[in-house]
Amino acid sequence: MGAPVGSTTSASPPSSVLSAGDLDALIGGLAEDGYRVLGPTVVDAVIDWGPVRSSDDLPRGWVDDQRAGRYRAEPSDAVHPDAAFAFASPASAPKRWFLPPTEPLFRATRRPGGSIAFLPAPDPDPAVALVGVRGCDLAALAVLDRALAADPAFRRRRDAAFVVAVECGHPADSCFCPSAGTGPGIPDEAAAAAGADLVLTELVDEAGPRYLARPVSAAGAERVVGLGDRRPATPADIDGAATVVASARDAITRTLPFASAPALVRDAPEAAAWDQTVEACLLCGNCTMACPTCFCTSVHDRTDVAGTTAERWREWDSCFSLAFSELHGGSVRESPVSRYRQWLTHKLGMWPEQFGSSGCVGCGRCITWCPAGIDLTRHVAALAMEVGA
Ligand code: SF4
Ligand code: SF4
Repeated sequence: MGAPVGSTTSASPPSSVLSAGDLDALIGGLAEDGYRVLGPTVVDAVIDWGPVRSSDDLPRGWVDDQRAGRYRAEPSDAVHPDAAFAFASPASAPKRWFLPPTEPLFRATRRPGGSIAFLPAPDPDPAVALVGVRGCDLAALAVLDRALAADPAFRRRRDAAFVVAVECGHPADSCFCPSAGTGPGIPDEAAAAAGADLVLTELVDEAGPRYLARPVSAAGAERVVGLGDRRPATPADIDGAATVVASARDAITRTLPFASAPALVRDAPEAAAWDQTVEACLLCGNCTMACPTCFCTSVHDRTDVAGTTAERWREWDSCFSLAFSELHGGSVRESPVSRYRQWLTHKLGMWPEQFGSSGCVGCGRCITWCPAGIDLTRHVAALAMEVGA
């Protein structure tokens, strides 16, 4: 991570610069080709994923303020009114487009005579095109690719998607992606490995925004070729993009020691810091719902009143719920501290062995969206202080 923005691998097509009109044409072209185009939009004063028909639907001129237990988004005179990506990250993670919060797995109906017919889940949704995926969320999708490699519905959606990553130029107080090695600054190899097709950097001056575009897949290269205002990137464009990324990186002060965190969370289960952190926890599960890598689900069966049809649904679940650890006779994690410790020990301590990388990408959403302001970076620092690591 941290390669210069605009740098390309020997196999990468050269970077080019797109106008704001080209961005509209890119979005329109994806829609014409049948993609369900999604990007950051303003929904109830929150910047979150939604349908995008043109750059008019993007949060132009909006900024966000994310910190422990606080989220605000609003238009700001501090950024150009046409800047479309002058915020940190959408409120929700892109995982929902590949692992929906609820989805049917199959349906069964009772035939006359008593036999049962099993019907597959309905036809899949159209392929999605995501415009505006940040480096942290791109890394999270790569994590999910490993964790859900055997899930056919997830794989089908991921394989069909077109992904436009956008470098982050306006990180929030809750961000700590440099510690995680996931941004700001997305190397081409990491972008391609995470299934991105294009990486954009928004460059803004008095004239408005333009976009340094780095194709990282053949499909991405094809998409930019026909755009009308496109021109080759100059060294000044590439330097400008590098400055955007460097400034974002410099603005992030929050850290988490990813190298020592696995041992810290695994080896000190009885530390007082666990109880102190969890004292404020409401067990709401927001942290797991907001997290771009949490993928736990449960299945529920629903039947009609007559008992002739039944459906099996998969729904997001959370290790913060009592029922999540229900085994024969009851839950094995009754106390709040046991559930918080399970979450963090799995995410920071066990994922490296299980999936080859941490389960945290440093997006900061669990910090922003925790109503109690619980902050995993402060918790890990408190653990380190207590055990002298
Ligand atoms: S644990 Fe928190 S900071 Fe880390 S990826 Fe999940 S939501 Fe983001
Ligand atoms: S840590 Fe915060 S977000 Fe997570 S369950 Fe507790 S109160 Fe909710």
